[in-house]
Amino acid sequence: MTVPAALHPFLESRLPAALDWLRRMVEINSWTDHRDGVNCVGQLTAEAFADLGFTAERVPSTNPAWGDHLVLTRPGTGPQSVAMVSHLDTVFPPEEEARNNFHWQPEGDRIYGPGTHDIKGGTVMMWLVLEALRELAPAEFAATTWKLCFNSSEECFSPDFGEVVRQRCNLATLAALVFEAEGREQGVRQLVAARKGRAAWRVTARGRGAHAGGRHAHGANAIVQLAQTVQRLAALTDYAQELTCNVARISGGSGLNRVPHEAVAEGEFRTFAPETYARARAAVLALNGPGAVRSADDGYACEVTAEILTESRPWPRNAGTDRLLACWQTAATALGQRVASEHRGGLSDGNLLWDALPTMDGLGPWGENDHCSERSPDGTKLPEYVEVSSIVPKAALNVVGILTLLRGGG
Ligand SMILES: [Zn+2]
Repeated sequence: MTVPAALHPFLESRLPAALDWLRRMVEINSWTDHRDGVNCVGQLTAEAFADLGFTAERVPSTNPAWGDHLVLTRPGTGPQSVAMVSHLDTVFPPEEEARNNFHWQPEGDRIYGPGTHDIKGGTVMMWLVLEALRELAPAEFAATTWKLCFNSSEECFSPDFGEVVRQRCNLATLAALVFEAEGREQGVRQLVAARKGRAAWRVTARGRGAHAGGRHAHGANAIVQLAQTVQRLAALTDYAQELTCNVARISGGSGLNRVPHEAVAEGEFRTFAPETYARARAAVLALNGPGAVRSADDGYACEVTAEILTESRPWPRNAGTDRLLACWQTAATALGQRVASEHRGGLSDGNLLWDALPTMDGLGPWGENDHCSERSPDGTKLPEYVEVSSIVPKAALNVVGILTLLRGGG
């Protein structure tokens, strides 16, 4: 793979325009629940890619409180297609941005601001990469069908977006490239090759209420029952299997003179291996049924209900992902860069796609402190930022990686 000599100068020449699109995207609050803001970012994103020949399709979310997903398509003259994936939303409510004075703020090599790192910086990376492909590899650019898919509600584990992407891809789709930020390990870029799956659960203990003074023995204490049940959930954690079960929230009871009749706990578990995931899921659901806590009077047993609320399946390391990694390794060698791969605990849209399309993630620029908006005067707390100087080298890597993929290399 030879690197076009004009690649770096071209990317540098388009960086100011890329940063201008980024600024405009960051200046719009697009917290997942801020539906209009998400749709505005969708509109601006469609505008950004219109000059590259993309047409927009808006797909309403199944949850009417959220904005529209956006699919941008540029049909190619050949059979191959490539999907690129990003999202429109961020985790920051407008009040929080105002309270913490968190907005577009360049400072040296960093630009602070909501979404600079997660993931508007990734969206702009897509734009820069496609600009370079059109300029420097016009034949491949024209032959390929490009599908750019933007989730309106990734930060809330959108249940429907995976299907939106899968329906618009086919066997000729070579890859789903996800533009979440890259990782770094001792200065080496980390592409994401696997992510944990996650299931959110709720357990409810229902007992029998009673007067705590007069009829205590008649009661079946739901809190005591739930306290036993959450121990069993916490015990599912198995670090050797990379399985964590987090008991995150608990409530129950009211007056101190009442034996409580109901208590509820919620949490989540995460793991990489589909078998481990299935085992944990079964263990949670096995908690359903009568509990051990009973009324002393007549043996009335508390009842435990265990439910899975939402789930995103694991994205395990797999052959399709490994083939994409090989293309990016080839690209890195050609460019004199170093890349490695990592397995991440956090979810992305990659979890929804890997079993339908070869999937790789971490293609965005480098930055830090995603999901953070606070800044302390002593600098021990800093908000989300993107590192500007990471953008061009990463764009170069992505351009050469994509060309390697399109030319059947790896
Ligand atoms: Zn993200």
